[in-house]
Amino acid sequence: MSDREEHVVAVLGAGTMGHGIAQVCARAGFETRLADVDVPAAAAGRAKLEQSLARLVEKKKLSADDASATLARVRAVDADAACAGATIVIEAAPEKMELKVDLLRRASKGADPRALFASNTSSLSITELGQRLGAPERTLGTHFFNPPPVMELLELVRGVGTSDESIERALAFAAALGKTPIVIRDFPGFATSRLGVCIGAEAIRMLEQGVGKVADIDRAMELGYRHPMGPLKLSDLVGLDVRLAILEHLHRELGEVFRPPVLLRQMVRAGRLGKKSGHGFYRWTDAGPEPSDV
Ligand code: NAD
Repeated sequence: MSDREEHVVAVLGAGTMGHGIAQVCARAGFETRLADVDVPAAAAGRAKLEQSLARLVEKKKLSADDASATLARVRAVDADAACAGATIVIEAAPEKMELKVDLLRRASKGADPRALFASNTSSLSITELGQRLGAPERTLGTHFFNPPPVMELLELVRGVGTSDESIERALAFAAALGKTPIVIRDFPGFATSRLGVCIGAEAIRMLEQGVGKVADIDRAMELGYRHPMGPLKLSDLVGLDVRLAILEHLHRELGEVFRPPVLLRQMVRAGRLGKKSGHGFYRWTDAGPEPSDV
């Protein structure tokens, strides 16, 4: 008999990250509720999760029985239903503080009295979030990586007011999910985003300056430094709008080195958001990503 804490998980935001986080939680055996702006949007996230499980079955990485048991643990519902009695609420909504505060405040009304409030934010202050929620001791960052079912790291972010007990519970949750955690002090961009966006932004500036073509800049880091994926392709995978939001925040908080490149702004204005819109620094089709110079 295991003494692991049996969580009821609410994931708020069923986009790129949210549906993958829900998959990881359900796969670990937890009852998982997925919400978005409305129930059809949550159901669309659940449909993506179902496709992702089907691909794993096709590749023989998951049995058909495990896939259907995982799917059966996930319900697409509205945010209030998702949070009712939840023991951990993980928000994966867009990178805007006001939105995250609103969502988690509302979640706190129906959640379990001991619930952990977790944000998948890439850069925003966990300390501010916890303070504004009125539950600083139970608020923390659970920063998953893209795609959550594949990526091993879980960056746990400890706000100034986060309690030792919450960090212990989060470490146990990470273990139950099969993730390798790191615990990082709340500081803009934490450990991962701060380093990651630096390389990404510099690669975009190099493209602006004509230093090299998309494929060559990416190959430089893939072959020269053994990065599994070049910085431009990775930016496409993350979402150029998401990267821009992180850079804008870090620019405000940490200064000039994080000023977003003009080209990044232009691409976001043009709706070239990367993989999720089918076009960024690459064109993304079923045949795979093809460099698309700008
Ligand atoms: P996304 O745009 O793909 O998804 C966000 C989802 O939130 C959308 O489905 C949207 O409809 C939904 N949403 C908007 N308003 C909402 C509301 N009021 N209530 C519920 N849902 C709402 O974004 P994403 O890439 O999944 O990013 C989500 C968070 O995860 C951000 O904080 C981002 O910084 C962080 N993050 C992203 C990545 C990445 O690689 N994309 C990696 C790590 C962390």
